[in-house]
Amino acid sequence: MQNDSPLPQPVRRSIPGQIYAMLRQWVDSDYYPDGIDAVRNLPLKVDWVRCIPFIVLHLGCISVFWVGWSWTAVGVAVLLYLVRMFAITAFYHRYFAHRTFKTSRLAQFGFAVLGNSAMQRGPLWWAAVHRHHHKHSDQEEDLHSPGVSGFIWSHIGWITSSRNRPTEYDRIKDLAKFPELVFLNRCDQVVPWFFGVGLWLTGWLLERYAPGLGTNGPQLFVWGFFISTVVLLHGTLCINSLAHVFGRQRFKTGDDSRNSLFLALITLGEGWHNNHHRYMHSARQGFYWWEIDISYYVLRALSAVGIIWDLRPVPATIYEEASQLKTRVKKEA
Ligand SMILES: [Zn+2]
Ligand SMILES: [Zn+2]
Repeated sequence: MQNDSPLPQPVRRSIPGQIYAMLRQWVDSDYYPDGIDAVRNLPLKVDWVRCIPFIVLHLGCISVFWVGWSWTAVGVAVLLYLVRMFAITAFYHRYFAHRTFKTSRLAQFGFAVLGNSAMQRGPLWWAAVHRHHHKHSDQEEDLHSPGVSGFIWSHIGWITSSRNRPTEYDRIKDLAKFPELVFLNRCDQVVPWFFGVGLWLTGWLLERYAPGLGTNGPQLFVWGFFISTVVLLHGTLCINSLAHVFGRQRFKTGDDSRNSLFLALITLGEGWHNNHHRYMHSARQGFYWWEIDISYYVLRALSAVGIIWDLRPVPATIYEEASQLKTRVKKEA
């Protein structure tokens, strides 16, 4: 976002001052040593120093060659992928970004913590960026459009640029009124640290008290934290990149969004992205029974036991529009 006001001049810092600013930025997402406008006006390019935790996350996967594998560690990695993918798709996306159902303040916070462990930053930043994406889909302002800025940038590049780091609180006023969510968003590295340490400790306890499971601290950490989180991250990022390139368009949405069964399976339902771009206010993204949307099925189950409620449906007008488009395509064929 460009700002026309004069830019604050960057403060010249000593080396200890620079190290302090860098470390504080890692623990406090809302800390901008030269002011937020200076960040908003940075060039759109990779900030390698700011990305060190992100790079470590990827490089950490290589340590699997030292720690080896076990069915326990692989099972934990898969389970954590599924549970956290649900937290991202159903809560970060369908709840925080689009408010497609209601829940209690406690459940809202609990799923925000779970989503935060996926290292996709805080729920408020995620929702603010995503609302911006829907407003400017595949236009110049879109932060991650493969058609505008290329496939690699839309997949991973945009997230590495410091310019895209600030949480634009103006876009998420409805969420920023909850101090616990603001704290989580601001200190978005806290939950991942606890998560990682918790995995290591669990592995250590299993090695000591359940040696038959064949795992240990470092192994559970590498599989549950590094590998599971990296695969989960790229699965989610595919919706920004691949889901705007690969698949079919049912609706004429004026953007490049597509529907894809493959992407829907790996993201628990987010692959019905063209449906979602046509109508973002519904809790379901697979609009028909044959469009597999696992997150929606789990949401239905949570609704049945009263943890969430008021799931917003797809309106009849959208189904009519879909059937009219289908009839027109048949006639033209
Ligand atoms: Zn999209
Ligand atoms: Zn969306």
